[in-house]
Amino acid sequence: MSDEAARAAFQKIRWPETDGEPVCPKCGCCDAYDLATRQVFKCKGCSKQYSITSGTIFASRKLAVRDILGAIAIFINGAKGYSALQLSRDLSVDYKTAFVLLHKVREAIELAREGGALSGNVEVDGAYFGGYVKPANEKKDRKDRRKKIHQSGKRQVVVAIRETKGRTRTFVTPTEAHGVALVVANVEHGSTVHADEASHWDRLAAHFPIKRINHQEAYSKDGACTNQAESFFSRLRRAEVGTHHHVAGRYLHAYAAEMAWREDNNRQANGTQFAMAMAAVAVAPQSRQWAGYWQRRAG
Ligand SMILES: [Zn+2]
Repeated sequence: MSDEAARAAFQKIRWPETDGEPVCPKCGCCDAYDLATRQVFKCKGCSKQYSITSGTIFASRKLAVRDILGAIAIFINGAKGYSALQLSRDLSVDYKTAFVLLHKVREAIELAREGGALSGNVEVDGAYFGGYVKPANEKKDRKDRRKKIHQSGKRQVVVAIRETKGRTRTFVTPTEAHGVALVVANVEHGSTVHADEASHWDRLAAHFPIKRINHQEAYSKDGACTNQAESFFSRLRRAEVGTHHHVAGRYLHAYAAEMAWREDNNRQANGTQFAMAMAAVAVAPQSRQWAGYWQRRAG
């Protein structure tokens, strides 16, 4: 795709109400001079100059729009997640640029996701991530290793709440028991909640009809099922082990949300997923976390 074609495609998504004709982000005026040589528009109403990414999550990037769309396409094709190192090679940009680019795509997708409480049959489960400590070879060292993991303070729990054939919500918490309050806050009254035998989930019975599954014995009482939550966790685990190798604790929520989005859309064709991600990017506002990220860290 040429950069010109990429810009035209991006404009149509950014400004659908004018079929891609530029709209001034400051005053809303639809008349602009096209300063094509500098790839900016100048508003005929207020004289402000703006680019097609002004005011969006990719504002003030020196990246070509073609590279932004290329990053989205690569992101969509990497079902197990995609590393910033790989992307930096593919786009011939530096690692820092690729790192922020991927996080901005993740943030835009997360912003565009449908909110609101989950309902119907809802599964909840949790799993530990992060805080990796090299396994001990000797059996006598193993207890020590477990202790170290707990002392590292880097282990966190991802709690996933998932509608059967619907949406997945993810949260990062210190313990799985924190998931009880999250289910109460994010699941509609009258839904049926499916959980494993961990005793903290007993408290959900005060709020919802609950169904329990025993993982150790692998049997399901009353048709309880947590397969969907488990499918999500195996995807997140594969991404942690296979793609990112180590997930820093402060980004765990972003990777979890990315994998939730991939789970929820894995039956959509790649082209559909690309269109969804591109639409999300075109309307996402400037990022508080990622705008000027490396400049702040250097300062
Ligand atoms: Zn204007």
